[in-house]
Amino acid sequence: MTFYFDNAATTKIKPEVLSEMMPYLREEYGNPSSLYGIGRSAKRAIDTAREKVAKLINCDKYEIYFTGCGTESDNTALKGIAYRFKDSWNKDVKNTDEAKSEKNHIITTKIEHHAILESCKNLEKQGFEITYLDVDKDGLINLQELENAIKEETILISIMFANNEIGTIEPIEKIAELAKQKNVIFHTDAVQAIGNTPINVKELGIDMLSLSGHKIHAPKGIGALYVRKGIEFDSFMNGGHQEKNKRAGTENLAGIVGLGKACELAKENLEYHIKHVRGLRDYYIEQVLKNIKNVKINGSMKYRLPGNANISFIGIDSTALLLELDKAGVCCSSGSACNSSEATPSHVLTAIGLDSETAKSALRVTFGEFNTRAEVDYLLQNLKQCVMKLRNLK
Ligand code: PLP
Repeated sequence: MTFYFDNAATTKIKPEVLSEMMPYLREEYGNPSSLYGIGRSAKRAIDTAREKVAKLINCDKYEIYFTGCGTESDNTALKGIAYRFKDSWNKDVKNTDEAKSEKNHIITTKIEHHAILESCKNLEKQGFEITYLDVDKDGLINLQELENAIKEETILISIMFANNEIGTIEPIEKIAELAKQKNVIFHTDAVQAIGNTPINVKELGIDMLSLSGHKIHAPKGIGALYVRKGIEFDSFMNGGHQEKNKRAGTENLAGIVGLGKACELAKENLEYHIKHVRGLRDYYIEQVLKNIKNVKINGSMKYRLPGNANISFIGIDSTALLLELDKAGVCCSSGSACNSSEATPSHVLTAIGLDSETAKSALRVTFGEFNTRAEVDYLLQNLKQCVMKLRNLK
């Protein structure tokens, strides 16, 4: 039996999502660009899904672009804006030191997901200058430092809504306000925040937002990017005219339908979801603190995703702990799923100032809608035993 506590890595497809998708994998398999009946019906299904995604974050459906995943949404946001500005650079100075006086500056943070960090590294090689903001011990950026970093050449600020490892929620509304004042585009990676906290892009003043299906009970391989009307961005895929020429390639019809349904359910369930996962998370933390010695909670307790608990079990290697828990059928994570096999401590835990030993002993437990109190008790019981066993081995 599997006891799944890794909902930040991925989530189970909801039955309602799957049943909504099935007709588009069986009978309604037309290409949305085709003019005959099943093609037109596919196009309509995409349109309906677009509306549902838009409703979740309160934007217009024409401001939603479907992508292949959260990583692609992040790449599209960063490169889409960067390339648009690069086009206006003086052609003679492109990729040279002189290009540095062009509009080429992007601000992000040291704790972003690799989808952002690696895109930034790639852009650096192309002549862009990137500022990586520090965060405090809770994982929060400093707004004054952000303001100081903005300069004439700044084209984009990309700061995640909530962190995937420690769950810290950044001051998004204030960042957006600052970006607007300085006339800089603001993108946020909301892959972890979506469905876990209310997001209203209009009220918050967000210009661009990335989200991913598999974190909210839709399948893997489908994502979306919100781009506020009026913001121009380049596409880096060449091909057909899908997604208003911004994302070439035949649409992932069933995936899009699934994402639409998952967004609809996320909107309906948001209040219940937050209350449920927060209840389980708070109980888990309370019991860990009561029953296991020498632990440290990582990240902010105030500005935190409701289902995230990241705790260091000092003296223990979290990979060994994960493997012990796995023997009992318990799934959790030592950091983000993408770097859990790496031996180096997580860049997020290093950025919040943890020493290597504390960082390497961090266990991320992320709760979801399907978890129950009885499952948390099972987790706690096994966790205590595993921690004792591994500490006794020393
Ligand atoms: N951004 C954040 C904050 C994430 O947590 C993830 C996935 O874990 C991604 C981006 C990438 O999303 P995807 O797996 O859909 O490519």
